[in-house]
Amino acid sequence: METNYDVIVIGGGPGGYVAAIRCAQLGLKTACIDSYQDAQGKPSLGGTCLNAGCIPSKALLESSHHYEALQHQYKERGIEAEGVSIDVEKMVAHKNGIVKKLTSGIAGLLKGNKIEHLAGYGCLLNNKQVRLTPHKGKEVVLQADNIILATGSRPVDISSAPLNGETIIDSTDALNLTEVPERLGIIGAGVIGLELGSVWRRLGSKVIVLEAQDDFLAMADRQVAKEALRQLKSQGMDIRLGARVLSAKAGRKLVNIDYQDKDGEHSTKVDKLIVAVGRAPNTDKLFAPEADLLLDERGYVNIDEQNLTNLPGVYAIGDIVSGPMLAHKASEEGVCVAEIIAGKRQQGIGHAKIPSVIYTLPEVAWVGKTEDELVQQGTEIKTGVFPFAASGRALAIGDSVGFVKVIADANSDRILGAHIIGPQAGELIAEMVTAMEFSASSEDIADIVHSHPTLSECIHEACLALNGRAIHKINR
Ligand code: FAD
Ligand code: AMP
Repeated sequence: METNYDVIVIGGGPGGYVAAIRCAQLGLKTACIDSYQDAQGKPSLGGTCLNAGCIPSKALLESSHHYEALQHQYKERGIEAEGVSIDVEKMVAHKNGIVKKLTSGIAGLLKGNKIEHLAGYGCLLNNKQVRLTPHKGKEVVLQADNIILATGSRPVDISSAPLNGETIIDSTDALNLTEVPERLGIIGAGVIGLELGSVWRRLGSKVIVLEAQDDFLAMADRQVAKEALRQLKSQGMDIRLGARVLSAKAGRKLVNIDYQDKDGEHSTKVDKLIVAVGRAPNTDKLFAPEADLLLDERGYVNIDEQNLTNLPGVYAIGDIVSGPMLAHKASEEGVCVAEIIAGKRQQGIGHAKIPSVIYTLPEVAWVGKTEDELVQQGTEIKTGVFPFAASGRALAIGDSVGFVKVIADANSDRILGAHIIGPQAGELIAEMVTAMEFSASSEDIADIVHSHPTLSECIHEACLALNGRAIHKINR
């Protein structure tokens, strides 16, 4: 094995493997150390995103959606399905098949780019050295001109609800249940809690979500969050806000949860409980004490605007640094740092135009600032809203809940934020990200031809509405 590299990347998730590929493309001799192992104990690249995050959750969301739709949503089209049943193990195996395809694809990409994939744990030492503890074989010390730290994050564990892997579980276990729990509790109404709750509710669980905060989806636009809460509740998800879990205890079969809200203390029992209270950066075993890497008080690696840590030649990206914990943010930082190392770029990525998506039904997506944020900072704004209920395409596909909301500066008309709740919101938001990247005005988008009939016409109409010109709704 080689021990000297231009770049060593520690972590093979969407931050790390993308950084490694871009480094190799730029002619740098690169190694990528990753510790992830699948259920069979085999190395599995792609990190949380491919193995236990974005992709498996979306596979289960899709399957569970088809199951629910087949039972309830096609009758009015004259399509009747009888004897619809669910084989959870097969559904999970199908999800695992998708994961396997993608993770082996990444292994192929590393190989094809001549990146050395080292399966094991990396630990940052002094003087740009890394100790590799391989899954097989002896420890070895490697040397590099530059090191990229990309070790990602793990679910936060809370002492009031100790995980046992059986009845009190984290998001990773919740992607691998073998049967549908009758009653499923979820602590935390964040993105992960709501997506996983949707999967199991669609498959038949009675889902109760306990969220300590009074505000629902506090990071989203208020108008969108209100609609999302209304829709999820109407689907039967029992979302209790202002409900702080005090303790969860696993009994012989059931989990007893004690929680507190404004009316006092309550108890409820569930068959399974998912703890989805956020994620913590994997920085505790990342470096030896002599490496002196600076972390902030929450355990994230301190970086400057180039993603450089306090140590020369040592960069950090993805979930271990500040900013939204999202795969596309990690990947963009990976590309950016590789280009900085190769001398092709000076600046890191900003966080202002990173889109967020919640893959519930209706889907929620946004980019830029919310109306409240803009009002609070004193910006004069105008907004344009267009409902999917007025879209022929949305009605034809049978998914017409929600709306597009575009916010622009009242004086310059420059788009400052876009908030979508409804069909394909995650795909639609890309147009608004592009618009904002090019500093577009709402009029620019209003003047662009959008195909008919498409959902993207709703973005067009929202931008027209912003200037009192919407065609398919009354402008007030
Ligand atoms: P990770 O993907 O966590 O990868 C880090 C890798 O480093 C892992 O393989 C880890 O095993 C390895 N590692 C850790 N320590 C070491 C070490 N010392 N040595 C070697 N290797 C090490 N984001 C989205 O953008 N869209 C979504 O739809 C989405 N859905 C999600 C759903 C769920 C259920 C979860 C849990 C997360 C979801 N995320 C989503 C978040 C997304 O998965 C993360 O933001 C993303 O994976 C972060 O990328 P990363 O490269 O920083 O870290
Ligand atoms: P996120 O960080 O987006 O994954 O969301 C996690 C959510 O869990 C946050 O909205 C927290 O308010 C919520 N949360 C954290 N601890 C508790 C608790 N003990 N009881 C209920 N909700 C909690």
